[in-house]
Amino acid sequence: MEGLYWNEHQIIPTLQQIRERVSPYAEKGEVAAYIPELSKSSPRDLGVSVTFLNGATYSVGDSAKRFTLQSISKLFSLLIALMDRGPDEVFAVVGKEPTGDPFNSIVKLETMTPHKPLNPMINAGAIAVSSLIKGRDVQERLDKVLDLLKQMSGNHTLGVNQHVYKSERATADRNRALAYFMKDSGIIEGDVEEVLDLYFLHCSIEATTEDVSAIAVVLANNGIHPQTKQQLVPPEYARICKSFMVTCGMYNASGAFAIDAGIPAKSGVGGGILASVPNKMGIGVYGPALNDKGNSLAGVLFLEELSKEWNLSIF
Ligand code: GLN
Repeated sequence: MEGLYWNEHQIIPTLQQIRERVSPYAEKGEVAAYIPELSKSSPRDLGVSVTFLNGATYSVGDSAKRFTLQSISKLFSLLIALMDRGPDEVFAVVGKEPTGDPFNSIVKLETMTPHKPLNPMINAGAIAVSSLIKGRDVQERLDKVLDLLKQMSGNHTLGVNQHVYKSERATADRNRALAYFMKDSGIIEGDVEEVLDLYFLHCSIEATTEDVSAIAVVLANNGIHPQTKQQLVPPEYARICKSFMVTCGMYNASGAFAIDAGIPAKSGVGGGILASVPNKMGIGVYGPALNDKGNSLAGVLFLEELSKEWNLSIF
């Protein structure tokens, strides 16, 4: 059999050893403070869960701590928009290219023609995508994202952290600027504040690394829940997600991460990373001290080391 990870007795010791090696580096990072509530996280936390295709999950460290998905949720608003509207309508308002700019950058929205955001993994792109989700009101649209996450994770208690949501909503001037610019350019239709509200709410969905690895394995398994065998996401849309995870999932560090880890992954400023190793496993990592690109510092190092140890690079 290929790879050490098939030896069940080695899994936890390997995860623990890597955790011990990389966790001191968290000191070099900083928790996100531009959403005030996020600055309350403990910078030294580091939790990891791995879920295999047989459904078995192995966890080490702070895997029971709940954190907000933040940009990880961009994958699931994209999936709902794809299911609601189909790829043609979605890619009419958002592109398929990496930006090389920070996740909340404004600059290319105006300088590129048409003014559509370059991809759905940056803030502007995710806000545009959220505007496509169908539903009578914000609650109904949010519930579609939450229900998908509940089915994928098997955790039906998932919900929104109201403190983080309110904290972001009160301080989101830059996201408001992006959204109103897109409304003016005809990328977003309808009530901008409602679109933003939905975006802040899905960013504030809370989960643990165990939830995240269970969600990630469904994407790794081409949209099929590995245990119930239910096709929760069309395989074509799972493929679109994994492609974006490789090219844009770690913002303007996606190229380096593709070389150093080679795993489709999506990070969030809450400190989480969701990683899907195609046809092998889902991984959830939580370490809230971020590097200068807004990715979990120890989390990135952990995935790079695990990838080498288990030979996980898809390239
Ligand atoms: N909610 C966050 C924001 O809009 C998400 C950003 C992130 O995780 N990179 O700023």
